[in-house]
Amino acid sequence: MTPVAAPSSGIDGPAWTLAVDQTVATLRDLIRIRSINPPPPDAPDGELVAAHRIAGWLTAAGLAPEIVEPEPGRGSVHARLRGDGTGGEPLLLLSHLDVVPAPPERWSHDPFAADLADGYVYGRGAVDMKAMIAMELGVVRLLAAEARAAGLDPSRDPVPGLRRDVLFTCTADEEAGGTIGAKWVAEQRPEWVRGAGAVNECGGVSVTVAGRRLYPIQVAEKGFAAYRISVRGTWGHGSMPRDDNAAVMAAAVIARLAVPGPTRITPVMARFIELAAEALPPEAAALMRALTGDDLSRAEAALAAACDPMYARALRALLRDTISPDVIHAGIKYNVIPGDAVVEVDCRVLPGTTEPAMRGILVDRLGPELAAACQIELIVFGAPVEAPAEGPLFDLLVATIRDHDPDGIPLPVMAPFATDAKHTASVGTPTYGFSPLRLDPDERFLERFHGVDERVSVDALRWGLPVLYDVVRRFCG
Ligand SMILES: [Zn+2]
Repeated sequence: MTPVAAPSSGIDGPAWTLAVDQTVATLRDLIRIRSINPPPPDAPDGELVAAHRIAGWLTAAGLAPEIVEPEPGRGSVHARLRGDGTGGEPLLLLSHLDVVPAPPERWSHDPFAADLADGYVYGRGAVDMKAMIAMELGVVRLLAAEARAAGLDPSRDPVPGLRRDVLFTCTADEEAGGTIGAKWVAEQRPEWVRGAGAVNECGGVSVTVAGRRLYPIQVAEKGFAAYRISVRGTWGHGSMPRDDNAAVMAAAVIARLAVPGPTRITPVMARFIELAAEALPPEAAALMRALTGDDLSRAEAALAAACDPMYARALRALLRDTISPDVIHAGIKYNVIPGDAVVEVDCRVLPGTTEPAMRGILVDRLGPELAAACQIELIVFGAPVEAPAEGPLFDLLVATIRDHDPDGIPLPVMAPFATDAKHTASVGTPTYGFSPLRLDPDERFLERFHGVDERVSVDALRWGLPVLYDVVRRFCG
């Protein structure tokens, strides 16, 4: 374990209060910018507006930000804080500017008003992921201020005490795969994202299970493979039903694919299960450990009954390659038997499952007869990614969580979904989901992502900002 200094060294209480207030104000400003992806007609350049707003803040802090705009309105922003160069490769603070749409009907607050109510900031992007942008900016501003206080120019001079550079990179288009965001940046501006390591969205957020506060740190992400399955039947008259009705065959396709497949416990998930079991009370621990045993279906059923269905669903997805049939098209009129149908499936693959292997799983599930009537076409593939669940940066993330929450239990985890980590991994930067937030025990964080009434508490930010600051200071010091 990497030794660490006392938490939040060097900054006094009043300065933290100011920094937290500024982080909350920054988050609210960012939520009010409708950086929706795909961009709606009335806000076609939300990401660029957000990039310019952030660049303005960085400039005011004395830095020299850059913006790229690969397509009109789709901006990404970057700035670099310098270390003295003796500490190795940079640390990347990664984030994305875009948010998913938010139909307001079921929200209790306007999703783009950034209301502050009952100690929470409400709005689209509050957790995914403008809170982390605001915290990363908070850290960058604190470091730049320390340089200015020493009579230095933070756009040029090393920040006192920093031995490696800190990169701040906030990209467009993550919610649509990052093609004109992180992927473009990794290809065209690799120096914006290449480093010894990166911290990014999702992990480092407390999850309370059986009274224990766990902090899963995301070290791996499943990959994705989406397929279009074209089913070939025979056209005919609806008065004389036939077995090779393509809609009926498509129903069989869905029925065969929608069943959960066999499990495969990856090393990261084996460690997650073991560490979680060590931390949990005996009954919950036994349930967790049973997941790695022989009678898995019973273990999964018991776990689903015992824990929040939200967590049970996530765990189930993390122990296997998954298939979710999400689109079906067939038929043109009620009395015409369709000869063609299309089913689109979203497959999420564990590290170790290749695209051809996933396709093989689909063919096996369909069986020879049905598979012969189906044409399977790949729509998109993204490989799984893994960063080491050990080593200086991971150990530092663990130690910093423990320093700031002595009862907290940090542990490595895989995410069932993908983030921009797949693009930073392509330039060799190990990327950790670590956007530190300490939440109320009953806050349903996972459901806030892309959900209704997305929100983050001011207390969570108050805890997270110094954690992130300490991670940067310690890793770069
Ligand atoms: Zn996100």
